[in-house]
Amino acid sequence: MGAKQVSSKSPPSKAMPVLTTDIAIIGAGVGGCIAAIALHQALGENCTITLIEKSDQAKTPQHETHQTPVKAGENLPPAAERILKKLGLYRRFISANQQGHMAQASMGMQSYWGNDQRQIVDNLSNPDGFGWQLNRSAFEKFLNECATEQGVKIHWSTTVCESIRHEEYWKCQLQTGEDRINLNAKFIIDASGRRASFARQQGAKRQALDRQVAYWATIANNTENQLSTIVTCPYGWWYSAALPNQQRVVALHTFSDLVPKNLRKNVYDFLMLARAIPQIAPLISTSVNYHGVTAANTCRMSQVAGSHWAAIGDAAVAFDPLSSQGMFNAMATAMQLSDLIKASDILNTESLPQRENQEKSIEHAYEKQIDSIWRHYLGHWQHYYQQEKRWLDQTYWRERNSFA
Ligand SMILES: Cc1cc2nc3c(=O)[nH]c(=O)nc-3n(C[C@H](O)[C@H](O)[C@H](O)COP(=O)(O)OP(=O)(O)OC[C@H]3O[C@@H](n4cnc5c(N)ncnc54)[C@H](O)[C@@H]3O)c2cc1C
Repeated sequence: MGAKQVSSKSPPSKAMPVLTTDIAIIGAGVGGCIAAIALHQALGENCTITLIEKSDQAKTPQHETHQTPVKAGENLPPAAERILKKLGLYRRFISANQQGHMAQASMGMQSYWGNDQRQIVDNLSNPDGFGWQLNRSAFEKFLNECATEQGVKIHWSTTVCESIRHEEYWKCQLQTGEDRINLNAKFIIDASGRRASFARQQGAKRQALDRQVAYWATIANNTENQLSTIVTCPYGWWYSAALPNQQRVVALHTFSDLVPKNLRKNVYDFLMLARAIPQIAPLISTSVNYHGVTAANTCRMSQVAGSHWAAIGDAAVAFDPLSSQGMFNAMATAMQLSDLIKASDILNTESLPQRENQEKSIEHAYEKQIDSIWRHYLGHWQHYYQQEKRWLDQTYWRERNSFA
């Protein structure tokens, strides 16, 4: 495997430094970090892994455990604990969270779905334990640190502008601040979330099954009840959950044409809608940090792996937040891909035909795994939405019920 090397002696273009790595991972979110850690553990010290992250470490609140989150998604399902344990991160997660600033146990959910009766699903009986309500920024910072300690270099404020496959390497040009760097990587993992930036550069297309978006805010948490709340209404559904540091997330899932036009900018309209929902109104406090709107639909890429590249997490398949499975899926697909790369020994193979065969087998096996996740998810997704039949005369629920 290639040793990490930064040199300006023989660059492909003038005066541009060249970084050579075995595996480049685009995106240092949950999926990217878990992939980096899993691959490092599977392939050992000699395999160099580089994370390329668009956001600016200094400008994001990742250093501040008390800051409110900037990425939607806070419920880490109980099954994620197995992956943290497998990677030897769980004890460290617990000890880093002694003050409870990064995560608090997720007690379960009260749901008003299909009728006005409250249904409680508590996590007491879950064999995997409670699951966690995360301060997402603090959790990602924790994973960034775990990856860095294992020798993974993270390039912040950096994106891949161009890439071509040439012999043994992907030859990429990175934009990092004002500078450009050439990167040679044997294998590229796209962990860039819903943007799927590398997969799309390779010609993969996003296939969206619906047009749901989420309007969301973090607010001060003034209530004792630690159960998450989910409640349907004629134009979609609301969700709220307690977060660490006396915070709470409140989110509306709907279609953008069913709500006031300027809702993404107008916190007052958002609060007015929230206060009109009897189960959400008592949760609303006065201290509000409104994040506007974000995509919350179900989609997958037409292709999730190709010649010496693969996409994981949201860059491969992105789920409806109703499933609370997005982070787990990012972690699980990172683990699956890491196992396939290790089993193939592709990074150590010199012969081109042999490498191409290994590549085909990774591609085939990985596409099959993603297909299976996708089919499983779709079954649950359709089933769940079909449980709500009260507003079939309304656009949102008519479209939700028309999947079958
Ligand atoms: C409203 C809402 C609520 C949700 N709630 C939950 C929940 O409760 N539980 C749950 O498990 N999931 C939830 N999800 C889904 C979850 O947040 C995602 O599935 C998860 O973030 C996917 O992780 P990822 O690592 O694949 O991508 P991301 O977390 O999106 O990380 C991608 C990273 O790549 C970086 N990046 C993007 N483009 C580039 C580029 N060109 N170059 C370099 N870097 C780049 C980004 O800055 C980011 O750091 C929710 C989603 C939404 C929208």
